[in-house]
Amino acid sequence: MNDQQKSSNSLPKPDPSAEALEQWLDLYRDFGITELYKTAPALQTDPDQEEHGRKLEHLRFTEIGVCTRCKLHKGRKSIVFGEGNPAAQLMLVGEAPGADEDQQGRPFVGRAGQLLMQMIKAIDFQREDVFIANVIKCRPPENRNPEPDEIAQCSPFLWKQISIIQPKVILALGTFSAQLLLNSKSSISFLRNRVYEMPFGKVIATFHPSFLLRSANKKPEAWEDLKLVRKTILES
Ligand code: URA
Repeated sequence: MNDQQKSSNSLPKPDPSAEALEQWLDLYRDFGITELYKTAPALQTDPDQEEHGRKLEHLRFTEIGVCTRCKLHKGRKSIVFGEGNPAAQLMLVGEAPGADEDQQGRPFVGRAGQLLMQMIKAIDFQREDVFIANVIKCRPPENRNPEPDEIAQCSPFLWKQISIIQPKVILALGTFSAQLLLNSKSSISFLRNRVYEMPFGKVIATFHPSFLLRSANKKPEAWEDLKLVRKTILES
């Protein structure tokens, strides 16, 4: 250690070769250092994130407000607006909040949500990287399917979320989301595993994670869809 290094009160930077790294770790051990931390990336403010975030807040609190546009407001605890990166490259769109989501006011926080997070981590995304929303924002009683009048009242807010976030890819989760986003009546098995160039962006459809919890044999197909999501984002 030279004088400058001694006086700076910090350890010299390691040489990246394996041998030097070994010596470096020995040195750390000698110093009694048992934990290493990755340097936190410098905090960056993304102007798109800030502007999109403000627009989403306006949508949530000024436009949607305490919504009574459909009958679902009577039984709900929360409006589950959606959450995540306001300038996300990847947006996930599910069907409707369930009991856990209604309780917590956050999308995909129950068992299906845990599986969904494993799925997106497998293609190298974290929950905070993506934006997660649903076709409708209030829980249907007994988790029944959303009804046409509920979708008609609520989906304009999903379209506005999409136009604010401008994701590279939207992953439609399950039949209701895929049929709405692709303006189709076809089954999810037919719609999945293709990239649709819609006027508002690219859409890929896959099975809903709740369905995958019941039908584990479909997971390899969902994995194909996820790989297509990753490839499409990388190429966009
Ligand atoms: N299922 C959905 O479709 N959305 C949620 O937020 C939770 C479960």
